[in-house]
Amino acid sequence: MKLVTFEQAGRIGIGLLRDDQIIDLTALAPDMVGLIELGEQGAARARAMAGAAVTFIPLTDVKLLAPIHEPRRNVMCVGKNYAEHTRESYEARGENVEAIDYPVIFTKTTTCINGPYDDIPYDATVSEKIDYEAELAVIIGRRVKNATREEAQAAVFGYTVLNDVTARDLQTLHKQFFKGKSLDGSCPIGPWIVTADEIADPYALRITCRVNGELRQDSTAETMTFDIPTIIGHLSRGMTLLPGDIIATGTPSGVGFAMKPPVFLRPGDVVECAIEGIGAIRNRIALAA
Ligand code: MG
Repeated sequence: MKLVTFEQAGRIGIGLLRDDQIIDLTALAPDMVGLIELGEQGAARARAMAGAAVTFIPLTDVKLLAPIHEPRRNVMCVGKNYAEHTRESYEARGENVEAIDYPVIFTKTTTCINGPYDDIPYDATVSEKIDYEAELAVIIGRRVKNATREEAQAAVFGYTVLNDVTARDLQTLHKQFFKGKSLDGSCPIGPWIVTADEIADPYALRITCRVNGELRQDSTAETMTFDIPTIIGHLSRGMTLLPGDIIATGTPSGVGFAMKPPVFLRPGDVVECAIEGIGAIRNRIALAA
């Protein structure tokens, strides 16, 4: 299933997308996290509603929001999870390349969630070093703690595309990632969640990022340092993960700050992050009002 959160005439709803038509699932749950919390039963009811549906909302009649537009917790992220990106990051900072033995974990605040096609606000008084990071994001489907590999994989509800937009200067100034990763609008996500049953091999999917059409990142998750069950295993050690939690699994090489010379996003730039088999999000950098 492709699951969307949409806005139509001021109403926010959830739905199942089929051939550019949305089947309204809002009667099942008030929002996407509510639907995910219904578990297998919710998925079965969604499929039944889709099978019986007689009315459809054309995709062109709605505005798609982030599929989880109001997450209950911070987005959990893994840094330096692709060897080539790890190398380029150390080199760009003039540091020796270090092996990553343990996942680098940080979060992005809930208020930075952004829609799949919405503008990313740009305020030069806050940061002039805004960068992109195309990532495969995992949506957690069930409560899980101290997950084994099997439990971790079973806890994956679905996948989506996420741009881990980063203010590189703030990331450096504050020492910790949190602030530089959490500016308003810095987490475009979507355009929908593809449920795990439809993605046979998430590591085979091509991940790309284009800026104004120019290919900047092009990889597959095959080159991840820590795979998805390992990430969930680490995160859930002594810390309960909840349905609707979003985990960004890291970005491949090709980010702007590692280019020679570094190139950052500017107002008017359009960033497109795409994952084969899932979809693409496209956001314009726009001067903040
Ligand atoms: Mg990232």
